[in-house]
Amino acid sequence: MQSYWERETLRHFDLIIVGGGIVGLSTGLFYAESHPNARIAILERGFFPEGASTKNAGFACFGSIAELEHDLEHLGAERTVELVLKRFSGLQLLRQTFGDQEIDYREVGGYELCFEAPDLERINFFNNLLEPSLGQRPYSVIENGDFGFSDRVKFMIKNTLEGTIDTGKMMGVLQRKVGLLGVQTFTQSAVTKIEDRDRGKIVRVETASGPIELLAQQVALCTNAFSKDFLPEADVQPGRGMVLVTKPNPAFDWEGSFHYHDGYHYFRTVDGRLLLGGGRQLDREGEATTEAGINDSIKAQLLADIKSFIAPNIAFEVDLCWSGTMAFGADKNPIVQRIDDCTVAGIRLGGMGVAIGMGVGKELTGLLS
Ligand SMILES: Cc1cc2nc3c(=O)[nH]c(=O)nc-3n(C[C@H](O)[C@H](O)[C@H](O)COP(=O)(O)OP(=O)(O)OC[C@H]3O[C@@H](n4cnc5c(N)ncnc54)[C@H](O)[C@@H]3O)c2cc1C
Repeated sequence: MQSYWERETLRHFDLIIVGGGIVGLSTGLFYAESHPNARIAILERGFFPEGASTKNAGFACFGSIAELEHDLEHLGAERTVELVLKRFSGLQLLRQTFGDQEIDYREVGGYELCFEAPDLERINFFNNLLEPSLGQRPYSVIENGDFGFSDRVKFMIKNTLEGTIDTGKMMGVLQRKVGLLGVQTFTQSAVTKIEDRDRGKIVRVETASGPIELLAQQVALCTNAFSKDFLPEADVQPGRGMVLVTKPNPAFDWEGSFHYHDGYHYFRTVDGRLLLGGGRQLDREGEATTEAGINDSIKAQLLADIKSFIAPNIAFEVDLCWSGTMAFGADKNPIVQRIDDCTVAGIRLGGMGVAIGMGVGKELTGLLS
């Protein structure tokens, strides 16, 4: 039952953001900075965000040679460089906004594991392609030596400009900063419908206390993989990803962000544990879902990889395993666009949303009036 104050004042907002992931929070941050008196609400259906932003692996990456080969084939050289730059400058924005310490950013390098000798000419080609924009030649080949991987790993291609963050710290500082700017975040608030009203939108929300109608002048959809609920025509396909962490073992002391099989599999260490994830391509159909859950056959393959070549000589025990949901489409670029007079959308972040998430939030803010 609503009070007069709730009906007349508290349910009215200038901007309602649907989705409390990195894009929703960044949109709240940039909009609040540029509109200090605006009443802004973020509505998130989970207690913690239920998509990808608190579930990811914390790789601060912008593209391995294998991924760039794929991009080049589908996008051509100019758009591949644009995409890399979008990710690279997104990471700079993240670092500048919070500082490296707050998000535990470590430029430890990205390493692509090669099971055969890499093509040096291609590496040279991509260094030449990116050098004018990045000011550096990021890729070099190194021998498998220091990390204790089995000799199935013949070489590694190192990207000196990649690193890792602590995802929990990054999302925590983002949530706190948004709160300090006066943005109200409502968790366990699932938006069920958005309807037109005179100069704005009615946003219907399902909460633990029952349904409620909020009123907004503008709405920003930051619902990534779940966007079809509001935009059924959008080219957005869900892609579930799995991550597991082992219990601590002092042998997990190497630093770097590692990946193999075209970037579909990835691992790093965190707090003396091994964190490993990916493998979505092993069951594309099964993983094209918005349901949370663990795919047992993918998990078995990840565990087999640890024993086979990642850490053949280190005893390990799995501590935790979880899933998160990404969003993909025919184009690797995100969708950042105006939907109608009162609605904008920043969705389909793909697999490198840590890199581009804040940039998408900033771009989306520019679309809002
Ligand atoms: C397992 C995994 C590992 C990854 N690893 C990396 C990595 O190492 N590096 C990297 O750069 N990227 C990584 N990513 C990708 C990255 O996490 C995402 O691209 C990014 O977090 C997307 O942010 P977002 O805000 O667009 O979406 P999300 O974080 O998914 O946020 C959308 C939010 O909207 C909410 N929502 C949806 N519908 C409603 C509704 N009706 N009402 C209210 N709320 C709603 C959801 O609950 C969700 O919290 C990974 C992703 C996964 C799943």
